[in-house]
Amino acid sequence: MMRHSIADTVAALRASLPEGVGLVAVSKFHPAEAIEEAYSAGQRIFGESRVQELVAKADALPADIQWHMIGHLQTNKVKPLIGRVALIESVDSERLLELIDRLSDEHGVVTRVLMQVHVAAEETKFGFTPDELIDYFARRAYRNLRATHICGVMGMATNTDDMTRVRADFEAIAGLRRRIAAMCDDLCGFDTVSMGMSDDYLTAIECGSTLVRIGSAIFGERI
Ligand SMILES: *Cc1c(COP(=O)(O)O)cnc(C)c1O
Repeated sequence: MMRHSIADTVAALRASLPEGVGLVAVSKFHPAEAIEEAYSAGQRIFGESRVQELVAKADALPADIQWHMIGHLQTNKVKPLIGRVALIESVDSERLLELIDRLSDEHGVVTRVLMQVHVAAEETKFGFTPDELIDYFARRAYRNLRATHICGVMGMATNTDDMTRVRADFEAIAGLRRRIAAMCDDLCGFDTVSMGMSDDYLTAIECGSTLVRIGSAIFGERI
């Protein structure tokens, strides 16, 4: 069977998403030509998991692409992203957040970020635990930020076929955002819930996702 083209797949996916749900086309490990194909179908948000790869692609591809950093970020790799990314989705420590804020301030830009929360069963995934995240906001630590806008939360469900567990994970992520927004009435624009990937994005949307991150269903398997 012939595989659908990247452009057709992106166009169909974009048309199928409900109002209010954005699409991050996760292009990590795929070449610039694949991104150009998705771009030709109107896609403008692309997600990368490594700084070097994101920066190289950003330099080579159209300037109106909005790049999202979705992978774990080491503190010594933050600088090239500042002023270049539309959203850092993978802020997983206060130390990283403070560094992003300082570098953004020095650079004279505001960086938009999501707080990555860890609810999945796997131990290897990065992110704040729900308790750590609630504590961060309960302390009102975000008030010290000068050049960073926390736009919401990002998370992943447990990698399992058990859809009951997947649904519970997504509900926990969306519920955390709601709880934090209700607790902190001075927090503005804290409305993004980034969750859902190729295999589970429909469930994620049912649970309140506003941003799905889809790679292999668009670009095929990563080499
Ligand atoms: C790779 C990746 C995705 C996309 O995964 P697919 O299963 O290929 O859709 C989404 N989110 C993050 C954080 C990723 O690293």
